[in-house]
Amino acid sequence: MSLIDVRGLTVKHGGQLALAHVDMTIDRGEIVTIVGPNGSGKSTLLRAIIGAVTPDSGKITTAPGLRIGYVPQKLSIDPALPLTVRRFLGLPARVSRKVADQVLAEAGVPGIAEQQMSSLSGGQFQRVLLARALHVRPDILLLDEATQGLDQPGSAAFYRQIEELRVARGCAVLMVSHELHVVMSASDRVICLNGHVCCEGKPAHVASAPEYRALFGTGTGGALALYRHEHDHNHDHTHTHEAACSTTS
Ligand code: ADP
Ligand code: MG
Repeated sequence: MSLIDVRGLTVKHGGQLALAHVDMTIDRGEIVTIVGPNGSGKSTLLRAIIGAVTPDSGKITTAPGLRIGYVPQKLSIDPALPLTVRRFLGLPARVSRKVADQVLAEAGVPGIAEQQMSSLSGGQFQRVLLARALHVRPDILLLDEATQGLDQPGSAAFYRQIEELRVARGCAVLMVSHELHVVMSASDRVICLNGHVCCEGKPAHVASAPEYRALFGTGTGGALALYRHEHDHNHDHTHTHEAACSTTS
């Protein structure tokens, strides 16, 4: 059984269609990336999955007892508010010192528990959010543009961390990203969203799909080729169904 099954999901914000008839499935252990331009409904889709947005029609089915770790796109903390990383991790539900230290280490920021949230770099802040999502022992992590504000090496390092976590924890990952060329090597499957599912499949398939190119152009072609080249070695892709592209909207 799938972890999450989305069927015919339609969401309107104040009468405006944000998502139209979206179908999507995530299986255990998969890393799936959603790409799409600003306003294409990516955050809405994630928020519908966690139950923060009510569908106008369609259905979202989750595996019984599914635990979701969610990293939102925006989280602003008043810099004037004294708040240590340890206290932040304990909001809203208390976590033990041991668990806090463990999830920080897993997220790649060991030993920063006593630092102030306001003193963290962008990369450290994102990793603290990741650590916070880990302490529910998630079956799936939902990451909404988790590398926003990081430079390219910072983003690449963050995605490597996600890949390691997937292996260590065996959890699935559903992430939203603008940087297909950066996440390609870490993704089993890519879904290109523009209010509806434009195309989906293996990263290289989506990158060369006309629907994707129409949305994003071919400017990242060089980087894409590089990643493809790096992936000439054999990976065991268990979820390699390359769905046909459709342009229905
Ligand atoms: P993305 O994450 O792909 O940038 P969003 O899911 O945030 O897109 O937004 C999709 C569309 O829905 C946009 O047109 C956005 O302006 C609109 N929207 C998102 N959230 C709300 C909201 N709470 N109220 C009204 N409109 C919203
Ligand atoms: Mg968004």
